[in-house]
Amino acid sequence: MAGDVGADLEFFNIMSFESLGLSAEILRALSDKGYEQPTPVQQQAIPYILQGRDIMASAQTGTGKTAAFTLPILQMLSQNPLAKNRRPVRALILTPTRELAAQIGENVVEYSTQLSIRSLVVFGGVSINPQMMKLRGGVDVLVATPGRLLDLAQQRAVDLSAVEILVLDEADRMLDMGFIHDIRRVMKLLPAKKQSLMFSATFSDDIKVLANTLLNNPASVEVARRNAPADQIEQCVHLVDKKRKRELLSYMIGHHDWRQVLVFTRTKHGANHLAELLNKDGITSAAIHGNKSQGARTRALADFKQGQIRVLVATDIAARGLDIDLLPHVVNYELPQIAEDYVHRIGRTGRADATGEALSLVCVDEYGLLRDIERMLKKPIPRIALPGYDPDPTIKAEPLQTGRGSRTGSGPSRGAPSRGGPRSGGGREGNGGSHDSGSRDARPPQRRRDTDGASQPGRGGAPRRSAGSSSSYAGSGARDSRSGNKK
Ligand code: AMP
Repeated sequence: MAGDVGADLEFFNIMSFESLGLSAEILRALSDKGYEQPTPVQQQAIPYILQGRDIMASAQTGTGKTAAFTLPILQMLSQNPLAKNRRPVRALILTPTRELAAQIGENVVEYSTQLSIRSLVVFGGVSINPQMMKLRGGVDVLVATPGRLLDLAQQRAVDLSAVEILVLDEADRMLDMGFIHDIRRVMKLLPAKKQSLMFSATFSDDIKVLANTLLNNPASVEVARRNAPADQIEQCVHLVDKKRKRELLSYMIGHHDWRQVLVFTRTKHGANHLAELLNKDGITSAAIHGNKSQGARTRALADFKQGQIRVLVATDIAARGLDIDLLPHVVNYELPQIAEDYVHRIGRTGRADATGEALSLVCVDEYGLLRDIERMLKKPIPRIALPGYDPDPTIKAEPLQTGRGSRTGSGPSRGAPSRGGPRSGGGREGNGGSHDSGSRDARPPQRRRDTDGASQPGRGGAPRRSAGSSSSYAGSGARDSRSGNKK
């Protein structure tokens, strides 16, 4: 997979890993991983980090951002070893979720195979004692979720006073998940003089405030347009009645023989229910969400990665940070409440240099959410329509189920919904300040509506595309060059 990225980068006359000044040990680890050339965020961030600069990087998942901060950190630590017998935490990587922490931890291990660097991942939901024991043995790079890190600090199991480099990964998500106070408490445990690296897929005003307080004259690294999904993801929408979504999803998976599909629901209950129904349809599925034990989450993810289950049904928070090589299909079974989450969700596919397809099944209740998303993307998402699954125009919009009690949806007779909720995302997208995700207008937000459905055969036909749609759908599609990442 690295070869394709390489071809694009060569075309843009872009540098090699060697020219970034990375050491022979790290270059060897990269070549073992099969990486041939740095991705754009790596090209931009690594030199700044090696110079000791703070950075504020706008890079979404799938761009290679983990290596962008991990590689220079490993290099700096190994080139400036401390006196023997001293092994304080020197680099701290804070991440919002357990899955992301585990993923980063794996990368740190892979990239440091040729170095004498010790790393550890700590997160909640599992016993704290083994983590305390390992910390006692000395750790150079600590990857942590904020809550567990504070627990460890409170129990005096970790000393952060010698941290030289701090990484705040997926900072936007940390704020969305309400970690701001935990982050500030962690900051008090760190020395004032350190190098700080902040990564965020999106830039709200809250993120800018956080950056101003944490970063010192940061270099700015930008590889993706604000709130823009990676270019290599083909997106499409199928308008369909709510009660027929499951049927349509099963059909799409079966008809196209999709083997690895990540499906998003809005609620934990919805995830469980859908996984059960798909299993009944003979499509092996598992749900992954915050109410599942860490063991169950890890198992489901491993089974999914190994191809033992075909569908992983996830809520937004559980899916954050999942890195599954070449994940070909993401389905929004329900649209997210917050438009920016759409970008995060579909960022699970088309990672690094692979193409991916993201399908959203949208019912009348969600037309307002769809409008918000398209406003944020500044373009319509191409529509497909499978004959026989057209929405029934007599069905009226109902309030959306969010798992936190239902919120007002797109009901024509209802007022504008409040989407702020416990997460601060609602209306942050700068899309004209509209919170009107549940538009009073329940007409489908479709620029070009397919009308030739009658001539199509029943459910056996391939989905039709709206006129003007540019993406190929059922097949793997043409690979986009990573033009969005050009400097
Ligand atoms: P990330 O954005 O850090 O989650 O990385 C996304 C995926 O890209 C991961 O599977 C990485 O292993 C992969 N990756 C990172 N850097 C490169 C590279 N230079 N060439 C090819 N793949 C890469």
